[in-house]
Amino acid sequence: NSLSQETFIQRELKYNCHNYSPLPVVLVRGEGVHVWDSDGKRYFDFLSAYSAVNQGHCHPKILKALVEQAGQLTLTSRAFYNDKLGDYAEKITALFGYDKVLPMNTGVEAGETACKLARRWGYRVKNIPDNEAVIVFAEGNFWGRTLSAISASTDPVSYEAFGPYMPGFHVIPYNNLAALEEACKHPNVCAFMVEPIQGEAGILVPDEGYLRGVRDICTRYNVLFVADEIQTGLGRTGRRLCCDHDGVRPDIVTLGKALSGGFLPVSAVLADNEVMNEIKPGEHGSTYGGNPLACQVAMAALDVLEEEGLSERSERLGQRLRQELRAQLPADIVPCVRGKGLMNALVIAPEYDAWEVCLQLKDAGLLAKPTHGDIIRLAPPLVMTDDQLTTCVRIIADTIASF
Ligand code: PLP
Repeated sequence: NSLSQETFIQRELKYNCHNYSPLPVVLVRGEGVHVWDSDGKRYFDFLSAYSAVNQGHCHPKILKALVEQAGQLTLTSRAFYNDKLGDYAEKITALFGYDKVLPMNTGVEAGETACKLARRWGYRVKNIPDNEAVIVFAEGNFWGRTLSAISASTDPVSYEAFGPYMPGFHVIPYNNLAALEEACKHPNVCAFMVEPIQGEAGILVPDEGYLRGVRDICTRYNVLFVADEIQTGLGRTGRRLCCDHDGVRPDIVTLGKALSGGFLPVSAVLADNEVMNEIKPGEHGSTYGGNPLACQVAMAALDVLEEEGLSERSERLGQRLRQELRAQLPADIVPCVRGKGLMNALVIAPEYDAWEVCLQLKDAGLLAKPTHGDIIRLAPPLVMTDDQLTTCVRIIADTIASF
């Protein structure tokens, strides 16, 4: 490729909305844990497209499913049946142990869908008075960019100057069971939607027992426990679902991102009939939701997670990564390494610049992205080998040592 990276960057900056601030690297190819820039330089990908490529870039099994189905039938809309949606629905509900799935496309649509299901259940099953339902969220939540999602947000960058906001949302502190219990006492509360580990907030791992406490309170007050597993799910934290660490079963689970292994926007909402059967024909939908291409891709993506034991690999490599980084990184520069499985964060001391650290990591052949100024997320594809992890720990340790 003869064009310089700067040319690609300037073209994007000229014609594309500046709604992100990317690291200055232009990627043209990906395979497994690696991506390549337009100059041919190879990097370890430590972002995994915000955990959408848990299965590794361009996984051959998912690619095959995509290509075969793309030549057969891609989209019917739900005006007609297709021969793949039933197979997919059977597979995903069996794998996660729910009665039904509602297929959508992006993560935020799954979140919206979960909110609609919760409100509908609130009115029809819990008998909340019309238009009075309340959904509780946790401070620092991130579930996307729609008006509903930003209405739940406590980050001014997300919500400022986009009002008016969705009513019926109530925000409590994260990792605080007393606050949840207090909120749930109100009879109009239909659901508590929460990330088992807060991703965009900076990989915030709640106290041991938090999720079991959430389950208990929601059960006692007849409130739906909605787990947003869009980032934490599908092996990322070392279990199929992050909630599996605590042995708790949410009433509603949202999945996205790695549900397609990075090939297409595919999301899903899982729930039992008591919740799901309150949605009747015509009351919710999506042109692309449940399309046969997405179904085939998602089935292959789920197969890869199971066949390659990626949850177990994520658990094992994650423990190694944290242990080795804690032992090797100077605590005055990196006071904290935290996470579960391969969903991890380095906290950079205030005297140092996390953006600068990421630029140096990039030069050393490892791509990670800072968030909130002082946090660097370490979330490689789950298909990483032990040897690759050893190399990556060395790159990170050497880079930090040079500061
Ligand atoms: N929920 C969580 C926990 C997320 O991390 C994200 C995206 O980062 C979303 C929802 C929204 O997903 P999408 O960007 O596909 O709409």
